[in-house]
Amino acid sequence: MVKENMNSPLAEELNSIPGAKLKIAEPLARYTSMKIGGPADYFIEVVHDSALANLLRVLELYKIDFCLLGNGSNVLISDRGVRGAVIRLAGEFKRLEWHDENGEVHARVGAAYPVTQLVREAARKGYAGLEFAEGIPGTVGGALFMNAGAYGSEFEKIVARIQAMTCSGQPLEFSRHEMRFGYRDSHLPIGTVVTRVEMRLQRSETAGVAVKVRELTQRRKSSQPSGLPNSGSMFRNPPGDFAGRLIELRWQLDENPPRPDKPHRSSHGPPAESVTLI
Ligand SMILES: Cc1cc2nc3c(=O)[nH]c(=O)nc-3n(C[C@H](O)[C@H](O)[C@H](O)COP(=O)(O)OP(=O)(O)OC[C@H]3O[C@@H](n4cnc5c(N)ncnc54)[C@H](O)[C@@H]3O)c2cc1C
Repeated sequence: MVKENMNSPLAEELNSIPGAKLKIAEPLARYTSMKIGGPADYFIEVVHDSALANLLRVLELYKIDFCLLGNGSNVLISDRGVRGAVIRLAGEFKRLEWHDENGEVHARVGAAYPVTQLVREAARKGYAGLEFAEGIPGTVGGALFMNAGAYGSEFEKIVARIQAMTCSGQPLEFSRHEMRFGYRDSHLPIGTVVTRVEMRLQRSETAGVAVKVRELTQRRKSSQPSGLPNSGSMFRNPPGDFAGRLIELRWQLDENPPRPDKPHRSSHGPPAESVTLI
């Protein structure tokens, strides 16, 4: 149970960070595509880099574990909720800049930017390379962290560089050749918060890119249910198999006594078609 309240020294310190908005015991179900998830002790939205850096420093000072939440489309959160802090990026982390020079197109995108919106912006401009991501309902940060992919491509193929922060709030940068991706995994150091992703795209014919995006939208619509709580690839697996295992896992999480102080610090992604258990 949450023992903290808005008057605790930690809450007061979190509340005093400019650009950070704190909610205590915030139910997480409303932030996940599965529509499940109990309360986070501390739910904090940050709108720029200095707010994020200050937040991470305070959490470290108070030894509070944290995890990142993007659009919640690849997480399975227990009804018991999350002990520690859940961080969401907003504000400046939703910015998109295009650089189109000397035949090279680069998108510099904040980690909170929605993937599908990015795909459509690129298509409107006739920039190719991102079409595969049409319909992935995550943020750019979540997609990078998960190395999200579909239809034979994935984020690792278009990433040029990322900006991030360590769990202590120190700025980090990785160029593509310094990163090692795996299947649905970015292998980032534990606790890394992705803040911006730079992607390399190709200038192409607007009509051609738009047609491909429309085709993939149709393909998804014909193969995936919409409007129901879900977590992506679970519908690729036979009913009673993967879905059954998820329900069982959730049951175990709810029935078993809490694990002693298990760190929540955002770490490597889950294996294969699984979801991140928080
Ligand atoms: C209908 C549906 C269709 C889907 N289709 C696909 C698909 O085709 N291909 C595919 O790969 N996936 C798919 N998914 C799964 C999911 O959309 C992707 O994994 C997506 O990239 C997750 O992004 P998110 O912002 O929702 O991340 P979340 O689910 O919020 O988080 C996922 C993980 O990323 C971490 N994370 C999030 N943001 C950051 C950050 N800024 N810095 C560090 N870590 C971070 C979280 O801590 C968590 O561990 C689908 C899901 C649904 C519901």
